[in-house]
Amino acid sequence: MDDIAADPSHPRYASLLMRHRLEVAAEKGMLAGSAMIAHGRGEAFDYLLGERTTTSALQATRQALATLQAAKKPVLSINGNVAALACDEMLRLANALSCAVEVNIFYRTPERMKAILDHMNERKHVLGLEVPVLGHAPDARIPGLEGPRAACHRDGILESDAILVPLEDGDRCQALVAMGKEVIVIDLNPLSRSAQQATITIVDELSRALGNMLDFTASEGTLEVDSDYNHIAVLEEGVNEMLNAFKRP
Ligand code: ATP
Ligand code: MG
Repeated sequence: MDDIAADPSHPRYASLLMRHRLEVAAEKGMLAGSAMIAHGRGEAFDYLLGERTTTSALQATRQALATLQAAKKPVLSINGNVAALACDEMLRLANALSCAVEVNIFYRTPERMKAILDHMNERKHVLGLEVPVLGHAPDARIPGLEGPRAACHRDGILESDAILVPLEDGDRCQALVAMGKEVIVIDLNPLSRSAQQATITIVDELSRALGNMLDFTASEGTLEVDSDYNHIAVLEEGVNEMLNAFKRP
């Protein structure tokens, strides 16, 4: 899938690969104008983390997976950057959870929706998965949001009890939490509104976090929800990891 000139031995290979995926997605019309800025903000925080999954991020990842597995109706939300960076991982995770993915974007235009849906459906076909890909025919609205960014599927986001929304905007995250859902965010910035407001926040790079979830699914099957899980304490650990960057071995 990735036709990239960079050498895999390059120390920034993973980062270059992600940038390349965004460039390709931009050419296909999948991204909003601000997509690269959002990505750059994430990269800066990842640099502070040392571009690795921390112990606290792994703890959040386990809790997120356990929560999705325990949900009656989980759903995975896809925006332009998520489709560009980790389309296959999102489809594989939805397959493992037997749930739908729903394309749901902040700056909704018919052209961008079509480009993202086409990409998801093409990859689903290549991977040979039966995952429902929603977003093409929204018939409901997320309460508390104005305009096209509120549009969603009744059978997807609206009726879900747990939702994975990687790289989500703070407003929408808040609106989903207000609906009483378990809201799981993947966000490298532990200080963003999304990271703060979510039920569970994984402070890790998107493809690393999803890769870990898929590994846990394969190696451990069903995980247990930790009833003592402390969202804010885990976020604080994320901030501390960044502040202690110079003390790392
Ligand atoms: P908020 O609206 O929650 O306050 P924001 O406005 O600062 O956040 P947005 O542009 O709405 O940020 O969302 C992008 C978020 O995604 C940023 O917090 C950024 O750190 C994060 N991000 C970008 N790329 C990645 C990635 N590959 N993996 C994880 N997080 C990422
Ligand atoms: Mg925002």
